[in-house]
Amino acid sequence: MTQPRIGIIGGGLCGLVAADLLAGRGHRVTVFEKYPEAGGLVGVFDVNGVPLERFYHHLFTSDVDYVDFAREFGLDGDIEWLPSKMGFYTENRLWDFGTPLSLLKFHPLGLLGRLEFVLSTLKLRQRSDWKPLESQTAAGWLRDNGYGRALDTVWGPLLFQKYGRRDVDIGLVWLWGKIALRTRSRDKTGLGERVGYMKGSFGRGIAAVLERAKARGADVRTAKPVRLVKTANGAFEVEFPGGKETFDKVLSTVAIPELLRLAPDLPAETRALWGQISYCHALCPVLELSRPYSDYYWINIGDRSLPFGGLIEHTNYVPKDTYGGRRVLYISNYVLPDDPRFRLPDDELWKIYLPALKKVNPAFDESWVLAKHIFRGEYAQPIVGRDYSRLLPPLRTPVPGLYSAAMAQIYPEDRGQNYAVRLGRQAAAALLEDLGG
Ligand SMILES: Cc1cc2nc3c(=O)[nH]c(=O)nc-3n(C[C@H](O)[C@H](O)[C@H](O)COP(=O)(O)OP(=O)(O)OC[C@H]3O[C@@H](n4cnc5c(N)ncnc54)[C@H](O)[C@@H]3O)c2cc1C
Repeated sequence: MTQPRIGIIGGGLCGLVAADLLAGRGHRVTVFEKYPEAGGLVGVFDVNGVPLERFYHHLFTSDVDYVDFAREFGLDGDIEWLPSKMGFYTENRLWDFGTPLSLLKFHPLGLLGRLEFVLSTLKLRQRSDWKPLESQTAAGWLRDNGYGRALDTVWGPLLFQKYGRRDVDIGLVWLWGKIALRTRSRDKTGLGERVGYMKGSFGRGIAAVLERAKARGADVRTAKPVRLVKTANGAFEVEFPGGKETFDKVLSTVAIPELLRLAPDLPAETRALWGQISYCHALCPVLELSRPYSDYYWINIGDRSLPFGGLIEHTNYVPKDTYGGRRVLYISNYVLPDDPRFRLPDDELWKIYLPALKKVNPAFDESWVLAKHIFRGEYAQPIVGRDYSRLLPPLRTPVPGLYSAAMAQIYPEDRGQNYAVRLGRQAAAALLEDLGG
């Protein structure tokens, strides 16, 4: 008996994990990836000959599925759990942030605001049941419960920087997830935070699973954007430039708006429901510098007038000689899909970013810049509003044999490699179950 053919759309971490597991069980698997390289949002580029993620990445200690995945490939010992120093930019200056001591000295909140910040954090942190929080927005809950100062000074600007005009829509479950995960990543003293980085980049996780999936017989085709997935005689026709092929089952790991475009057989009511799922795109400028920009790993920007929401100085976290002495500064800038900035050429964007970098650190000088890059990620951050479980797509779509495992299906947690691994495993398990073992 010939094995059923499985087509997987998307060669990011989730698609590769599923491909590897399905191929490992003897199934005929083909992965279609639209870009010339697999890896999706965990793609890497070279800094001084050393691979570095295009988009900043680290792990929290709660990311147990990723650590387990790394262990499968003998890579878990190469995850270094390093202290991370956080700062906050507001009122035209940088402040230490994220530790109890720094909070005591964080004057922009005032005494009452600091109290509000601590109380709101404790209140959310102690909850294990997120369901009753679903009907509220983060901003609404903070305001209604008397935490308005914490909202106006800290959470409000951060929500605005990440979600733009959608800031007021973000569900309280999102804030709960951030606080719960973040506080679980405290170090043993409870005072600081440790986050994990894979020596040599998280690209090694991608390379390892890709290699094993191929060795198990998966056919991973890059530079193959899927254009259409149509049901035909109890199977699926998958169309891509220059051809089409037939599969018995199809797993999509692409963003939900993309799946809705690709799969016209999804019923109208599903389209109406999933059509309400929205995302931000990510602009991720990266500077290679001759000297440090600051002494923080992560600076949150609490100033709505600045054109970015975070500055992540990777070389204040990993050993600074990792890239032959070059310092690496990421700029975090999420934009809504209709934001014209996403389509601006690089030189126009640098005219926006560089002066703002000087505002945060007046000593910064363009002569420090050794190289600059701007990476763009479409549908890089799902927007999770109130009562999101109402929209949440199941792994099995209403079209029998068509499955979806996309970042927007990670809930109540937020996207991350840990959850891409978990979702890829869950998708493979669902397919195996439906295939009879
Ligand atoms: C700025 C930023 C920072 C992040 N920071 C962290 C972090 O610190 N820690 C962490 O763990 N995670 C982080 N993440 C999240 C992490 O990268 C993702 O959760 C994870 O990589 C998602 O994997 P995925 O396979 O689900 O999706 P993706 O990586 O998006 O993979 C989907 C794939 O589908 C492909 N595709 C799309 N359309 C088609 C088509 N029509 N045909 C064929 N292929 C198609 C895409 O090219 C892509 O390769 C970050 C992400 C961003 C953007």
